[in-house]
This record gives sequence, C-alpha cells and structure tokens, in this order.
Amino acid sequence: MHDNKRIATRCIHAGQSPDPTTGAIMTPIYQTSTYAQPSPGVFKGEYDYSRSANPTRTALEANLASLEGGKHGITFSSGLAALDAVMHLLSSGDHVVLCDDVYGGTYRQLNTIFRQFGIDFTRVDMTDLDATRDAFTDKTKLVWMETPTNPMLKVIDIEAVAALGKEKGALVAVDNTFATPLLQSPLKLGADIVSHSCTKYIGGHSDVVGGALIVSDDELGQRLRYIQNSVGAVPAPMDCFLLLRSTKTLHVRVERHCQNARKIADWLADNGKVERVFYPGREDHPQHAVAAKQMSDFGGMITAHLKGGIEQSRKFLESLEVISLAESLGGVESLIEHPAIMTHSSVDKDAREALGITDGLIRLSVGIEDVDDLIGDLDQALGRI
Ligand SMILES: *Cc1c(COP(=O)(O)O)cnc(C)c1O
Repeated sequence: MHDNKRIATRCIHAGQSPDPTTGAIMTPIYQTSTYAQPSPGVFKGEYDYSRSANPTRTALEANLASLEGGKHGITFSSGLAALDAVMHLLSSGDHVVLCDDVYGGTYRQLNTIFRQFGIDFTRVDMTDLDATRDAFTDKTKLVWMETPTNPMLKVIDIEAVAALGKEKGALVAVDNTFATPLLQSPLKLGADIVSHSCTKYIGGHSDVVGGALIVSDDELGQRLRYIQNSVGAVPAPMDCFLLLRSTKTLHVRVERHCQNARKIADWLADNGKVERVFYPGREDHPQHAVAAKQMSDFGGMITAHLKGGIEQSRKFLESLEVISLAESLGGVESLIEHPAIMTHSSVDKDAREALGITDGLIRLSVGIEDVDDLIGDLDQALGRI
C-alpha cells in the first residue's frame, strides 16, 4: 500500500494501515509466539508461529521493502544476521568478491565463520573496476559491497560493479546502511539484494539492534524467507515496533544529518590540527563524481586524519563533551570513534594500514544536534592537542 507515493509519505505509511479490530493508528506490538487455529492446520491469516511470521514484523518488512523500492523485505535480529542469511544462499566451494574497506564484523563473519565451511572470498578495492573484474573466479556466486565504505567512505559505482556481477552470473548485494534508502537506491542500480543494519540510521535512536534484506525477485525472496525461518535469527515484535516508529522520521533525520555533516566536514578541512577530511560531498573526495551520480545527498558520516599519532587522537577523543566516544553510528546523537582501536580491531594491522586506517584516523557519526554546538565541541577538543 502507498507504493505509488513519494518517499516521505512512504516512510510514515508504507506497510501500515489502522488496526482492523480497533482502528489503532499505530501498528500494535503483537507480543505472541503462536496463533489459535479454528481447525487443525487452518489459520486465521498468514500466521501460525512467530518465528515464521508476526504481524508487527510484517508491517516493518513491507515498510522497508517500499522504501528501497523492492518487493520483499525480510528482517533479522541484527545486521550481521542479515549477512548470515545471504551467506546461507551459498554452498561449500563457492567464492565471494568482497569490497576491501568493509564493516569489521562483515569481514570477520566471512573470514572466520564461513571460511570453515569452505566458502572463500577475495577482498578488492571496488573503486578500481579492473581489479574488481580480476577478483572474480569461476566459483564466484556473490558480490558484497558497502558504499560509502566503512570507515574510509570510499564510494563504489554500484551500477558498474552490479553490471560486472551480472556478466559473471553472481548475485550482487549492497550494504546500504550508511546511505539509507533516502540517499541511494541500489535495486534501481542493478543490485539483487540490499542489506541494512537497522541498528544505525533506520533505527536512528541507538536503542535497537536489527537487520534487513530487501529484494525484488520472488524466488530469491522465497529462499531468503526460508533461510530466515530455518536459521531463526528473527527480530522481536517490540524491536519491530521501535523500528517502525523510527522509519516515520527517517526522511527528516537524514536530511538534518546531511546538512550538519556537510558544515562540519568543511569546518574540519579548514582546521590546522586536521590532516585530511573524507566526506563524499566534498569535491576533494576521490569519488565525489560517483557519489554525486548515485546519491541524492552525502550522508552523516565523516572520517578524518588528525595530525599527530595515537596520543593526540586519544587526547582529542577524551576531551569531547557533547559528542560521545562510542561504537555504532546513525543515531540522533553524535558519536565518534577510533577505528584502529575500536570498530576495526578485528581487521589485522597490515590490512588496516593498507586501507588507511591509521592511528590518527577518527570516524564521526554526525547527529542532529545544533551544528554550532557540535562545531564548538570539536573546536575545544582540538584545542587541547
Ligand atoms: C553495524 C553495521 C553492520 C552490522 O550490523 P549489526 O546490526 O551491528 O549486526 C553491517 N554493516 C554496516 C555498514 C554497519 O555499520
């Protein structure tokens, strides 16, 4: 329902209609594990057991499918559970082409969990199309990319890499967590699967862990739903309700995240304590042209190299007062972190440094506070180093 409306309207209404029994405007939290059957094997609706389906989850899945312009939404208890479901489409002996600068937990799952089942992968800088083409083998069944990447905010040309994947007969998945459905539509650019860590912008309030996959192909949707039910990493009804509440404001939150981030990126770039700023919206970003082509705005994430080493970074991070030092991102509150010590410590040191994740690197998730308070906080903390 409402799939013909514009995205701001779909954020609020897609997948949800007033509860038929009471008219409740908000989708109820169907806190039930099972459903009474009038006769053996006869169900009142499509529901028999809440691992298989739950009405609160159904509403969320329809909402997210609509926002991504897909047909099927399938939700999970975390973003990594969504990745795990995609990996269960593969068999031992298959190969994955993975972007090099990827969420640390994604790398860890492929490297230590699925490798033991004989699924191999090659990491490649997907901003380099020739290198990406060379990374395919005759066993490649899946391409997994994240764009903008984490933490270096590299921007991968989704359309070009998806075309390569198609040519080689592989499924193409895009982790759209950083861009959100508001800024980038991978399915329209040729991807088969969109994934989200709903823990980040979709949840937006740092109070839920969740994940989602969105696809358009019916058979692929059926297979993923079968895996969801068989593996069982489903989200709780309460978490689905919280995520539905969150998507109602996703469009206004993302707009403010982008506005604040642009101002802060420019301010940081002019600061003498900062070596280099990475923000896809700035013209000095190496893939700014690709970002401008495939994104409607540039998101709320900024990465920067501070001058100096680990001691300067530590002092700066300890001195912040408004911006919290924490892992995660995408919430209304600004968060900052040190990838080498925190989120990317599971990537080995050589690989980290090859990617540019040095001791002076910080990653900022710009919140929706007053931007002048955020700049004031950065200013006083940079003044301490
Ligand atoms: C956080 C994150 C994940 C993992 O999601 P969880 O909800 O923490 O399991 C995957 N990809 C990206 C880009 C992320 O930021």
